[in-house]
Amino acid sequence: MAVAGVPLFPVTVVGSWPRPKYLLDALRQRQAGRLSFQEFNARADQAVLECLKYQQDAGVDIVSDGEQRRDNFYSFVTEKLDGVKLMSLAELMNHVEDKVSFDQILRSQDAPAFAIHNPTVVGKVRRRQPLAADELLFLRQHTGKPIKVALPGPYLLTRSMWVKGVSDSAYPTMDSLAAELVQVLRQELLELRDAGVAFVQFDEPVLTDVMFRPQVKERTFMCASMAAASGDSRTEMVRAVQLLNAVVRGVEGVQTGVHVCRGNWSRKEEALLQGSYEPLLMYLLTMQVNQLVLEFATPRAGELAAFQRYPRIRELGLGVVNPRSDEVERPQAIVARVEEALRYFQPGQVYLNPDCGFGTFAERPMNTAEVAFHKLQSIAQAARTLRAKYADGGGKAG
Ligand SMILES: [Zn+2]
Repeated sequence: MAVAGVPLFPVTVVGSWPRPKYLLDALRQRQAGRLSFQEFNARADQAVLECLKYQQDAGVDIVSDGEQRRDNFYSFVTEKLDGVKLMSLAELMNHVEDKVSFDQILRSQDAPAFAIHNPTVVGKVRRRQPLAADELLFLRQHTGKPIKVALPGPYLLTRSMWVKGVSDSAYPTMDSLAAELVQVLRQELLELRDAGVAFVQFDEPVLTDVMFRPQVKERTFMCASMAAASGDSRTEMVRAVQLLNAVVRGVEGVQTGVHVCRGNWSRKEEALLQGSYEPLLMYLLTMQVNQLVLEFATPRAGELAAFQRYPRIRELGLGVVNPRSDEVERPQAIVARVEEALRYFQPGQVYLNPDCGFGTFAERPMNTAEVAFHKLQSIAQAARTLRAKYADGGGKAG
């Protein structure tokens, strides 16, 4: 299904937005235990409204709350689930088998060990409150626009939350935790749908890591658990597909998508992964979601021709601006990129978005709100040009 009530080439976001300073201050107080979640949320309300205004002023058709209440896109579940403890990567270092190599990974990936926190399972996982339905309900009170909510994908969540030596007393295997998390996410998806969400996006950025660095078992800081994956990329991809399909299977009445990028924690492009989506697509296209939300603004993501063998199977959330750069992409360049995508997709299948969020990790925003705003404006301008051209469903020559 498509999102109802949006024009052709809907403009949307991937999720996160840079946090204002007062919100970061509140987040630090919350993490130090000096603010309750309710007190923190009262301050975050303001930030959500500011972020919403940026999006609406820029011409975004499907808005998000900018993930303003989250410290990052997956560890925020610590606030919502029992049995989970937020541990900094520096703390986790005590539990990894090979400290030297973990430290090297963090350095080579330009990952700030003290600023990035991992949601680590320390007991039985119980859903104390909804993961994101509270975020949706607040935003819904303040906009009539369709709303996108991002949730961490079940594969990423399992891989990051299960840490050997810490989690195995509650869950002897990673698979046993995965089964629990699938139920948590599925229940959340149903509740979001019933509360009127337009689009639920599952974030599985770690899949590029699985595909492009199969030789490194320890892998990325996003999955802090050491030596836990099979080390075989095909096995891991199949597992990721099975888990996501178990979450979404048979759920109707809501647009779903999966977002896969090559990391968004550093402005040093060389610290992020590189490689075409081509080897991933045969797996991603068996995920029973409506849309693949992919980065294509960064040259590291390779070419759209990766879809040559798989045309028009799913919708594409096309990344058309780089969230990590100062330069604002020109609307004409975005139009040209979309027209390239139209070799492999119908006009009605293409949504426009940045490559990733602008503030995936609260403490490490990839841009200012002002630059992010101008990038969204540029996308919206391109969308208007494209709508005029393709309104009849075809597209005029030239
Ligand atoms: Zn991303």
